[in-house]
Amino acid sequence: MNEVIDPPRRVKRLSAQLTNQIAAGEVVERPASVVKELIENSLDADASQVDIDIEEGGIRQIKVRDNGSGIHKEDLPLALSRHATSKIATLSDLEKVASMGFRGEALPSISSVSRLDLRSKVLDGENAWRVKGDGRELPIDAEPVAHPIGTTIEVRDLFYNTPARRKFLRKEKTEFSHLEDVIKRISLSRFDVGFSLTHNKKPIFNLAACYSQQQKEHRVSTVCGKPFLEKAVFIETQVSGLNLWGWVSLPTFTRSQADLQYFYVNQRMVKDRLVTHAIRQSYKDVIYHGRHSAYVLFLELDTGLVDVNAHPAKHEVRFRDSRLVHDFIFSAIHTALAKVKPGGEINPQNAGEAEVDFTPHGQISKETAHDPNRQFLRYPPEQSKIPLNISEQINQYAAIYSEPKNTLDALTLSIPDEHNGMPLLGFAIAQLHGIYVLAQNASGLVLVDMHAAHERITYEKLKTSYQEMGLKSMPLLVPISVELSSSETNLVNEFQSVFKQYGFELSVIGPESIVVRQIPSLLKDSQIENLVRDVLSDLKSFGTSNRIKDNYNELLATMACHGSVRANRKLSILEMNALLREMEITERSGQCNHGRPTWVQMRLEDLDKLFLRGQ
Ligand code: ADP
Ligand code: MG
Repeated sequence: MNEVIDPPRRVKRLSAQLTNQIAAGEVVERPASVVKELIENSLDADASQVDIDIEEGGIRQIKVRDNGSGIHKEDLPLALSRHATSKIATLSDLEKVASMGFRGEALPSISSVSRLDLRSKVLDGENAWRVKGDGRELPIDAEPVAHPIGTTIEVRDLFYNTPARRKFLRKEKTEFSHLEDVIKRISLSRFDVGFSLTHNKKPIFNLAACYSQQQKEHRVSTVCGKPFLEKAVFIETQVSGLNLWGWVSLPTFTRSQADLQYFYVNQRMVKDRLVTHAIRQSYKDVIYHGRHSAYVLFLELDTGLVDVNAHPAKHEVRFRDSRLVHDFIFSAIHTALAKVKPGGEINPQNAGEAEVDFTPHGQISKETAHDPNRQFLRYPPEQSKIPLNISEQINQYAAIYSEPKNTLDALTLSIPDEHNGMPLLGFAIAQLHGIYVLAQNASGLVLVDMHAAHERITYEKLKTSYQEMGLKSMPLLVPISVELSSSETNLVNEFQSVFKQYGFELSVIGPESIVVRQIPSLLKDSQIENLVRDVLSDLKSFGTSNRIKDNYNELLATMACHGSVRANRKLSILEMNALLREMEITERSGQCNHGRPTWVQMRLEDLDKLFLRGQ
């Protein structure tokens, strides 16, 4: 029996408008994405002020006005057509692109799904010109209008002609909050630009351009909230062409959502897996499981070392040397957090006040050191060792991993004079309910959670001693065989030395299977197979893995918890003082292994206030 086969459909070219609407599917998800594209265009045009007016959550209207360079009259039709851009011309431009845009897609895409109206004037233009776009890319006539130098783009009735997309829009309030979030995020990437926002003609915020550190911190606190800034440290680190600076939350400031995490690569806001992973690793040891850190961080590197053309909306980037970047970020934050110890922690009671400064040897930048309004701790831009150094051979890594000289000296020396020989945490005076140690120091009363503090100290000691003694391996009586994919077995071969360094012996016995013959004694009760798999998956995604170390750390943390003084044990004054002295020299002793604070300071002034003294 012969089935009737339809003749093939004929191949036809899509109309410009439809092509643009398809592209809009990728870059224009909702009003917030339109705003992002328009503001980025303003920034690319060197605007120093961007004013955004929104109606009905951006669904009715989005208007972005800038004082940038404007667009030439002859270029107006081109600006609205696909694959037309002023930002790159050659492949080599693309490879080192520093502008936010370069794909020439935003304006045609937006105009194909909305009613777009553009007015612009260039510096030497006699007139300003206006064009309207509908994504059809037909010859457009520009008409003269009045407009100052710069550009105003109005986008009305988003998705009016694509009902399926319009259905996906949420309520006005929700769309507006996405939109506000995007603007805030962008505003952090360019402190030198002023931004204003109105919604339904009501002013929402007006962020003036900022130049001083204090003004920047003010913008950060407007965008991220005051509590964040009060519980954050400013870091700045430079190594082999990489520069990382910004604010990271102290371990005692965590959030249930990962919603206060801002990361910029060369001023471009990104949400990158590698970056997120590196930061999460650096907090691993100090924050409560399931909680999230908060940060506003800027990574600057040569534009040739990062590919921003990895995603149409450019949320993701690709680093040429991803392992280097990962380890650099990890190391910078890890080091800063390690220094949070008594005196380095900002207590709720004195947040916002001048603080003890752990920055001896003049390493702190002059500008910040002498700023009388400086409120927060600065750590010197120095590096410390990363325990898991996979690729010591590479010179650049050596720079990252190099141990600063006399870290401990530096930190001990830095206890300021104003304490008049009194140790930072003072001397014990009593124990309260078998839980808290009370001590008197130069500024008043110190309260210590004795179990939490001791646990951290024991844990850090265990870690150091394991690092110093090296790791004992034990052969398995019955080797464990693990089935893997062939790419994973390749990784096992490639990273043999890493596994060895941690006391594992793995042999590849087939294209898709390995056996584990020897393991570190400390991990004898762990799920070896899972651990190996997890390590491989890290190595695959990030070229590095902290799993083995984390597993040790988890184990050591458990041991530390069990080996530490329990509540309700009576301590002598001598023991209590010993605990205080240990805390002063222990890294990360500002919080216990679970991220809870280990001590708080109550200043005499605060106590006076309680009793209305001197008022
Ligand atoms: P891209 O930003 O990728 O180049 P767009 O479609 O966003 O593509 O913009 C197309 C072109 O229009 C830009 O390359 C730029 O020359 C011009 N343009 C868009 N917006 C502005 C603006 N606000 N100020 C000056 N020129 C602009
Ligand atoms: Mg653009």
